[in-house]
Amino acid sequence: MTKVAILGGGPGGLFTAYLLEQKFKDSCETTLFEASARTGGKIVTRQFDIAPVIYEAGAAEFYNYAKVGPDPLLELVGKLGLKTAPIISRTVVLDGKILRNESDIRRLCGRTTLVAIREFRKLCAEAMPLADWYEGASHFDNSHPWARRTCGDILDSVGDPVARKYLKVAVHSDLATEPHLTNGLNGLKNFLMDVPGYLGLYSVQGGNQRVPDLLRRQLTGTRIQTDSPVTRVEKNADQTYRVSFRHAITAVHEDFDAVFAALPLDCLGAIEWGGEGLRRAMASFVAYYDRSGHYVRVTVLFRKPFWRQQIPDCWFMLDAFGGCCVYDESARQDAGAYGVLSWLIAGTNAAWLSNFDDCTMTGMILNSLPEPLRSEGISLFMEGHVDRWIASISAQPGGLPVRDARSAHRPEPKDHPGLFVVGDYLLDSTINGTLDSADFATDFFQSWRLKRNLLEIAATSQPQTSNPQTGNPQTGNPRKIDKSYFDRYHDDLSYEDSYDWYFDAKYVCDLIGIVWKAKPPYRLLDAGSASGLTLADFADFGIEAWGVENNKYIHNRTPARWRKRNLLGDVRKLPFADGQFDFVYETCLVSVAEDDLGAAIRELHRVSRRGVIFASLTSDMNPELFRRQDLLTGVKSLMPLWEWGELFSCNGFRIAATEERTLERLWRCEQKYNEGDEPWYPDRDSLRYCFYTRLPDEPVRRKKPRREKT
Ligand SMILES: Cc1cc2nc3c(=O)[nH]c(=O)nc-3n(C[C@H](O)[C@H](O)[C@H](O)COP(=O)(O)OP(=O)(O)OC[C@H]3O[C@@H](n4cnc5c(N)ncnc54)[C@H](O)[C@@H]3O)c2cc1C
Repeated sequence: MTKVAILGGGPGGLFTAYLLEQKFKDSCETTLFEASARTGGKIVTRQFDIAPVIYEAGAAEFYNYAKVGPDPLLELVGKLGLKTAPIISRTVVLDGKILRNESDIRRLCGRTTLVAIREFRKLCAEAMPLADWYEGASHFDNSHPWARRTCGDILDSVGDPVARKYLKVAVHSDLATEPHLTNGLNGLKNFLMDVPGYLGLYSVQGGNQRVPDLLRRQLTGTRIQTDSPVTRVEKNADQTYRVSFRHAITAVHEDFDAVFAALPLDCLGAIEWGGEGLRRAMASFVAYYDRSGHYVRVTVLFRKPFWRQQIPDCWFMLDAFGGCCVYDESARQDAGAYGVLSWLIAGTNAAWLSNFDDCTMTGMILNSLPEPLRSEGISLFMEGHVDRWIASISAQPGGLPVRDARSAHRPEPKDHPGLFVVGDYLLDSTINGTLDSADFATDFFQSWRLKRNLLEIAATSQPQTSNPQTGNPQTGNPRKIDKSYFDRYHDDLSYEDSYDWYFDAKYVCDLIGIVWKAKPPYRLLDAGSASGLTLADFADFGIEAWGVENNKYIHNRTPARWRKRNLLGDVRKLPFADGQFDFVYETCLVSVAEDDLGAAIRELHRVSRRGVIFASLTSDMNPELFRRQDLLTGVKSLMPLWEWGELFSCNGFRIAATEERTLERLWRCEQKYNEGDEPWYPDRDSLRYCFYTRLPDEPVRRKKPRREKT
């Protein structure tokens, strides 16, 4: 049983607890510490005092990615049994003109402005096609030309001043900062929210807070401690972590094997991180991401929804306060005859406005209504509420440059490998991003546990030596692959005798057919080919297969007939020509040290022409498999599937199987060949990360020849 502490009971903490329960049902004993009396963090649904009408005081909407690919948040909301309603709008109010659609823009601002807006949006779609936008890989972001410009610079490239203002007003509240304080790529991702096909938005019927509330009820195996602000975390000599917190007026502490800090950045920085190494690591971690964005929400109850005839949308963008979003809260929840508008003011304007008292602020926002609505709004005013969210959101999510998922979620992996962080600021400042972050962190947690397990096995199965400096027992490396590994590959059977259980060439052939529509004959490399038995099997299907194996003992057992094609070699330096193979079927990357994986994958890129099947063991495979400890023998790089996806994407490949139909066929194929055995992959979507199409080499950029002076 692993004892786990989660700090923070916002969406991040609740998602983490939920995923720990889902993924590792009976092997974690989890406690969640929440500073306040309620869970849910910045998802807050409140009610007015004088009428039973609810409104969102924090997060307004959820993002719907379901049209592009898997959408884990939407699936979770569905599992909780909640009904959702799409929220749609196109209205922008500019200089008193209400622009509901393109024909309003043409009529009230002119054709040139409309063309400039259209062209800018087209440019945005070209700058980040749908598939890249959805996958959101860090290496793509960092090499993107807009990453090195500010969002302000990008907007300045729009020549038409009215179009420029329109675009700025439309994006400002999503940025939560000023365009000159964030980069063009963050701007781009937010501009794309207005490009058809990219994103849908929805809210939850009965209030967004129902999501954290119902999620909390699902957490049957998690101890939830509210009113318990965590004040300090430090590592003990026995590798556990001491979490100190306050409860009522008492200071208490408790020890855990692992800690997830699911706190917004400002709260993360407020914790005392004990020990010099951890203190420094956390200070530099916070500094890396510390780009504060601000919000203020002012929500007003009106006697009736007086704006509806002019603005029927669920929200509109208003050019007051540098551009703010005004939500019609009464459009998404039942408000009877009342009307509710909520101004979401962003960036510097929010920080500046928050210096005023609630009454003054409410007066200012009522005055910001466009002329035809202002006087009616003031006369119908009933009740107003202000929610200040200063420094509550990241103005540069992901950091600059964007960090890869591993370094983002493990602030000090060397000496504090059991400490993980979860947060929207690591990805895209959204609730969807928070769930992804919790998913990443819980996967890293599993890799860490499996590795720890390996070290423990190694320590007990090898003669113990002691550290000459400390005198403490030293843990050995994970069990190495030796003769006995192959001689007793499955129970008492040798590799050769159990081979038929593990391999079926027809299965590989079918997979290639589904993903790349390729039929034999083609040339294939089996990377991790042992004694080359697969080569004969592939030959039966018309596939010219070659092998590469680095273990001399098993390689020596290659049948004479296949010696020329089963080579002794290292995947990091393959003994083959460029583009020699159509496909690679690999099972050896898991035995390569993490630092060398980039080199190994680049070699696969060099020798292949079409793609790679990734078939190594990963940490997020069916946990039942890991009960068989021999499976972990020789393992050096244990990572979740999606992290392999990141590695392949950084080294010249793209995910090959993205379409629903393809994934469905792959899943059926997987189930057919695996029938009666323990499943390897937890679900259909895991298969996305098992097939990689080779991308062409980057063209070598030559400098323009310099003209010689004559
Ligand atoms: C005004 C506003 C509007 C937003 N709108 C949207 C939107 O429309 N769509 C969207 O996707 N996202 C939106 N967001 C972002 C969204 O709210 C966040 O992505 C999400 O709340 C992040 O969850 P979290 O758990 O990381 O942080 P939080 O929600 O901030 O939760 C953190 C929790 O940790 C607790 N805590 C703090 N310190 C300690 C401590 N020392 N010990 C124990 N507990 C502690 C806090 O009390 C809190 O409950 C919005 C944010 C704001 C501010």
